[in-house]
Amino acid sequence: TTTTTTSMISKVKVIVRVRPFLAHEIKRSFPLLSCASLFDSNQDQEVTVHLKDPDTSRNECFKLDSFYDQEDNNVTTIFDKEVSPFIPALFSGCNSTVFAYGATGSGKTYTMQGENELPGLVHLSMSRILAMCQGMTSLVEMSYYEIYMDRCYDLLEPKAEEISVLEDKSGQIHLKGLSRVSINSMSEFQEAFSCAIQRRKVAHTGINDVSSRSHGVLVIAVSTPADDTSGHVMMGKLNLIDLAGNEDNRKTCNDGIRLQESAKINQSLFTLSQVIYALNNNSPRVPYRESKLTRILQDSLGGRSRALMVACLNPGEYQESVYTVKLAARSRHI
Ligand code: ADP
Ligand code: MG
Repeated sequence: TTTTTTSMISKVKVIVRVRPFLAHEIKRSFPLLSCASLFDSNQDQEVTVHLKDPDTSRNECFKLDSFYDQEDNNVTTIFDKEVSPFIPALFSGCNSTVFAYGATGSGKTYTMQGENELPGLVHLSMSRILAMCQGMTSLVEMSYYEIYMDRCYDLLEPKAEEISVLEDKSGQIHLKGLSRVSINSMSEFQEAFSCAIQRRKVAHTGINDVSSRSHGVLVIAVSTPADDTSGHVMMGKLNLIDLAGNEDNRKTCNDGIRLQESAKINQSLFTLSQVIYALNNNSPRVPYRESKLTRILQDSLGGRSRALMVACLNPGEYQESVYTVKLAARSRHI
């Protein structure tokens, strides 16, 4: 059957990745998620993701751009199909953004950072970018920061003060004082990145492990001299973002600081979905300014930029998965 929605092209692709059950989870292993009705029309593709609650046999469906389950779990597949097409445009000054979105424990960090020797989207992207730089005059730099409680902190060169966000007359966003290091090889990158991710675990706020309650943003900036004598340099940025866990407030019992954190997280994730929705549906007003995250990403979402949201799911959590996919699907299109 044909539907009208397929004629719309999502400007921000929204895909689902279901992680496998972990060894200690196997005993509660039950079918939860399934994917059906792969739909192809011209260049546009849509999948319907079915979520089933094994206890109550409730079931809900959502339409999204793509689905990667336990069998199709290799992160290089996701990189090749979804992220690598963004990379060439960085060399002509176009920005792109990849978000990992989902509840705590759903596989966001695994997807972005990988684990042990297994690479994630961050390593695969950096390595592709460095390979493309061979024989070119492009300069690659990285920054890494986190946004916690709507405040922005440098993770490469930690400073007590937060990083302030400034907007210049042309609407470009600047993060004042954010450090950037130039990267010439994967080993240089590994060193800088592993230090920075350690810092993300130790909070500047005195609170233990803010990593699931902050957004971690890695920026790979590629500067390429224009192909003429103007001396003009084009800079394209790839933002790779491990979003804070979107917890269902009704489930977590929240004390003072946790409640404030949750409120900020929910507000910024909600604003993000509203921004993506506005972009995907050509809305005249895009509410970038309603959270720090979207304000900073203003120059990397919309316009010529491309973006991908990876909604991560834990296969043993029905309610939580519905919550994640609902918001992801809502930001896609009507
Ligand atoms: P989050 O960052 O969303 O809180 P993590 O990335 O830390 O979640 O993943 C939670 C757990 O699941 C970790 O133990 C991780 O090793 C494991 N995990 C996540 N995704 C996968 C995957 N695709 N394959 C195997 N194990 C995974
Ligand atoms: Mg994490």
